[in-house]
Amino acid sequence: MESEALKKRLSNVKERIKKAAIDCGRDPDTVRLVAVSKTMPKDTVREAIKAGADILGENYIQEAGDKINALSSYPVSWHFIGHLQSNKAKYAVKLFDMIHTVDSLKLAKELNKQAKKINKIQKILIQVNISMESTKSGVHEEDAQKLIKEISLFENLSIKGLMTMPPFFNNPEKAMPYFSTLRELRDKIRNEAIKNVKMQELSMGMTGDFEVAIKEGATLVRIGTAIFGERN
Ligand SMILES: *Cc1c(COP(=O)(O)O)cnc(C)c1O
Repeated sequence: MESEALKKRLSNVKERIKKAAIDCGRDPDTVRLVAVSKTMPKDTVREAIKAGADILGENYIQEAGDKINALSSYPVSWHFIGHLQSNKAKYAVKLFDMIHTVDSLKLAKELNKQAKKINKIQKILIQVNISMESTKSGVHEEDAQKLIKEISLFENLSIKGLMTMPPFFNNPEKAMPYFSTLRELRDKIRNEAIKNVKMQELSMGMTGDFEVAIKEGATLVRIGTAIFGERN
């Protein structure tokens, strides 16, 4: 995509985020955009950064590593939003400011170990599978609190909130119950005041449903297609 077109699409998405926040009485600054650049070449990602994208979301470690190294001169934040295997934890902690998809003790343990090696406190979100689809990653809602308590004991991890991905619906309103369930779970865990756990972030909402997610409390919306166009 041409840089002018990309710029326009990005500013349009930012406007929609702002409007969605204002329409439900939220401060627009409490909603941050993660521009999902998976599969996009580094030159396109560079254009997006120049146009004002300051958090980039990537799904694949190797692909992300190449882009992050090539674009290391830009002061942007990189978030990992894909499925993470424990054997890639080492690379994930080196590359990413935030990992949205922690859903098991095994993975958390490995991330903690690798973060410790490089003397880093790794920010993470816990991915929750609200939809109960067996094909989706994420800890089940009823197991989330226990997992968070266990992970909170890892000194090199810092839990910042929750992430979810509802099933795809043509009508975004249908995703609403999934988002509100995640928010309620976040509030419940926050009330527990678990040491070393900050429950401010809700990573939810994509191109098709981010306005609904904002209404339900999203603080990080992960948007790819609306910014970069359809992926091949
Ligand atoms: C690809 C992806 C997105 C972005 O999806 P769009 O529909 O293109 O906005 C968001 N979150 C996750 C976890 C993804 O894998």
